[in-house]
Amino acid sequence: MEIACQLSCVRASLPAGVTLVAVSKTHPVEAIREAYDAGHRIFGESRPQELCAKYEALPDNIEWHMIGHLQTNKVRSIAPFVRMIQSVDSARLAETIQREAARCGRTIDILLEIHVAQEETKSGWDVGELKRYLDSAPFRSMPNIRVRGVMGIATNTDNERDVRRDFEELKRCFDLLRPYFGVYFDTLSMGMSHDYPLAVECGSTMVRVGSLIFGERDYAKKEEVVG
Ligand SMILES: *Cc1c(COP(=O)(O)O)cnc(C)c1O
Repeated sequence: MEIACQLSCVRASLPAGVTLVAVSKTHPVEAIREAYDAGHRIFGESRPQELCAKYEALPDNIEWHMIGHLQTNKVRSIAPFVRMIQSVDSARLAETIQREAARCGRTIDILLEIHVAQEETKSGWDVGELKRYLDSAPFRSMPNIRVRGVMGIATNTDNERDVRRDFEELKRCFDLLRPYFGVYFDTLSMGMSHDYPLAVECGSTMVRVGSLIFGERDYAKKEEVVG
């Protein structure tokens, strides 16, 4: 009940045209089912194994988004069903997704993850490096991938000015990269539980909200989640 409540609060706070990805990582299948029963269909997960287990356990009209760092050797396990891979941070990963999507006879939507945060630990492309890669035009020969836009994570800080700067940088990357792709390039995925209103203000079209809907994550319990 509480999940349905929180979900409708978050939904009500979003302007039309902003898509909500409910980030369910570490939370059990029953929690996702509660959100599903409240009408939600788009869920984000960050570990391939957990994603597969939840896909098996839940209705197949759910749109699953992979939002966490993805190793190339894990792509095969999610390629048959994943709707969008938001965390594409290398040419090698894009090429692997292309190959696995072709094997399944599917087209997979992807986002290019851009590194803007001040923390070194966060993954993603350096935008200059990405632009050089795109200038060599390899995405055009990947027919089973549809590049839908850009994803990013802002610096984890209470300083609103720094967070705004990161979101503005992501918006600038989105505008810079758009000419390389077709009409499908329409998604700017930025904003999480603590910063999504600011992200929306800066032009986000997709927010990824977890703890505000499902409660705090307990990483110590994560082994039980998929069991
Ligand atoms: C976990 C996660 C989220 C959701 O974080 P919350 O703070 O719980 O809203 C969003 N995006 C990514 C990439 C994540 O890993």
